[in-house]
Amino acid sequence: AKEQGRNRFNYFTPSMQEQAKYRMRLIQDLRIAIEHQQFNLVYQPIVHLQSGKVHKAEALLRWHHPERGYISPTEFIPVAEDTGLIMEIGSWVFEHAARQCRDWHHEFGTTIQLSVNKSPVQFRDEGENFERWVALLEELELTHGGICIEITEGLLLDASSGVAEKLLTYRDAGIQVSLDDFGTGYSSLAYLKKFDIDYLKIDQSFTRNLENDASDRTLCEAIIVMAQKLGMKVIAEGVETAKQQEILKAMGCDYAQGYLYSAPVSREEFETRFLKGDPN
Ligand code: C2E
Ligand code: CA
Ligand code: CA
Ligand code: CA
Repeated sequence: AKEQGRNRFNYFTPSMQEQAKYRMRLIQDLRIAIEHQQFNLVYQPIVHLQSGKVHKAEALLRWHHPERGYISPTEFIPVAEDTGLIMEIGSWVFEHAARQCRDWHHEFGTTIQLSVNKSPVQFRDEGENFERWVALLEELELTHGGICIEITEGLLLDASSGVAEKLLTYRDAGIQVSLDDFGTGYSSLAYLKKFDIDYLKIDQSFTRNLENDASDRTLCEAIIVMAQKLGMKVIAEGVETAKQQEILKAMGCDYAQGYLYSAPVSREEFETRFLKGDPN
């Protein structure tokens, strides 16, 4: 009966008015969330395939709404982008991640790198925030690749925004750059050489079918080989099985991330499982 109930619910589409109301509420709640610090970060390890060690981690944003509970970033990030609230949220994420990274370096003697996601809106409009962040990274001694930002292909296709120049200023500040969700957009590898990108993250839609789909295997391998020839390292996202790992490793993929190793976890859990007693 529960199953049926759920299915029935799926057919229900909220009216435009209800959607608008819902959105207004979400915007209000996001403002409150910023003020009342309802955000936190969770961390997912990124594993170096040859050594099996955790060299990096991705910081992912979590919002615990006081009434609704956990709300997915895929639901609230687009709204935050539309309203400009992403600027404040993004600043919080960057600063929080940078401080966490420094703390880990000091406490565990590791050189682990933290990646933070940066939405295109944020990248384009960051203005003087950028100088503030560079100063913060200098203060925290993270100007040697301690922090990586993840951007998406869409940003690169927007030729007017001076993205290539901007990426060079990131390089100068010692911030590395990953291209997230590669393969879901329209950019080609040849196009990417115009930009200073350190890591290419193969989207999970390709990793998913590696075991069964020969053409996805071919595509993955071609991406890996070409990206490496262009001076990038490759991270496979969404790795869930040992078989996928094996295939990627045989293809020479540099890093992997996914549920096979761990879901994103709290700071405490990350420390216990990946940092304590095993400095990489
Ligand atoms: P993303 O950057 O592509 O992050 C990877 C997503 O895949 C995460 O979802 C992660 O939990 C999930 N994932 C990791 N391993 C696996 C796996 O093996 N299988 C499957 N099926 N999924 C896996 P999450 O945390 O819900 O984040 C969703 C998206 O929200 C992110 O996609 C990113 O685009 C956005 N996001 C998250 N945090 C931030 C943030 O701080 N700033 C911005 N601008 N966007 C963020
Ligand atoms: Ca990402
Ligand atoms: Ca991704
Ligand atoms: Ca580079």
